[in-house]
Amino acid sequence: MAATDCLFCKIVTGEVPAEIVRKGERTVAFRDINPQAPTHILVIPREHYADAGEAARAGTGVVDDIARDAAEVAAAEGIAGTGYRLVFNTGSGAGQTVFHVHAHLLGGRGLEWPPG
Ligand code: C5P
Repeated sequence: MAATDCLFCKIVTGEVPAEIVRKGERTVAFRDINPQAPTHILVIPREHYADAGEAARAGTGVVDDIARDAAEVAAAEGIAGTGYRLVFNTGSGAGQTVFHVHAHLLGGRGLEWPPG
């Protein structure tokens, strides 16, 4: 179910525009408006969950869907071979600013470890 005043729910419905790269049965993927890498795409579930933990606890397999669909997008973007990073910022202290779970799919450049 969509949450009122959730920006990413509005991207799912098309109320807020985004550069969508993949529409799946349960997820939508779109380019981040403030890219941190040559490829920076957000993969979100159509259903509203605040964060990755809440999504996983729902027991619907939606976190699997996010990871699988992100892998498909990475392949389509040509970065599956070199590798990519999937990041779930969880909680404001970790940099989460939008409380509709999203995986950041980052690639197309060298990615350092540990992350900042
Ligand atoms: O992990 P965090 O919650 O900070 O990530 C939110 C991301 O959503 C940011 O990278 C921001 O650039 C992106 N964003 C977007 N389109 C919007 C609003 C935010 O791609 N309309």
